Amino acid sequence: MDMSRTQTRTDCVFCKIAAGEIPAKILYRDEEVFAFPDINPITPVHILVLPVKHIASLADLLDKETPLLGKMVRAANQLAREQGIAKSGYRLTINSGPDAGQLVPHLHIHLMGGRHLDWKH
Ligand code: AMP
Ligand code: ZN
Repeated sequence: MDMSRTQTRTDCVFCKIAAGEIPAKILYRDEEVFAFPDINPITPVHILVLPVKHIASLADLLDKETPLLGKMVRAANQLAREQGIAKSGYRLTINSGPDAGQLVPHLHIHLMGGRHLDWKH
């Protein structure tokens, strides 16, 4: 069995947050998607939106899993409205792999806003 495709990983910090084993303020949760604030925010609003299921990175997303990305984007849009940044503007970022600086190998969207964002900053 390919362990990278099991539902949760005991060695994954974001799976532990999903399981309630590491505390985080859950801002959104449904059966497939959840969200919590980034512990090291680089913008006034900085929220991570993730699949509950462990998927290591965007590069590991199976074709059949692409609808999950739409659900993550839908949750991010809802959070942007709730955080009051839907009109002022926001950015969704997914880092995939070492060159993109992905630190945590559990797929996540960064929802960032609340100030003017220069490209990449
Ligand atoms: P990335 O570099 O795209 O993998 O982003 C990982 C993000 O996860 C970073 O912005 C970290 O600040 C954030 N992060 C790591 N551990 C935690 C945690 N326990 N709770 C909230 N955010 C975290
Ligand atoms: Zn995980």
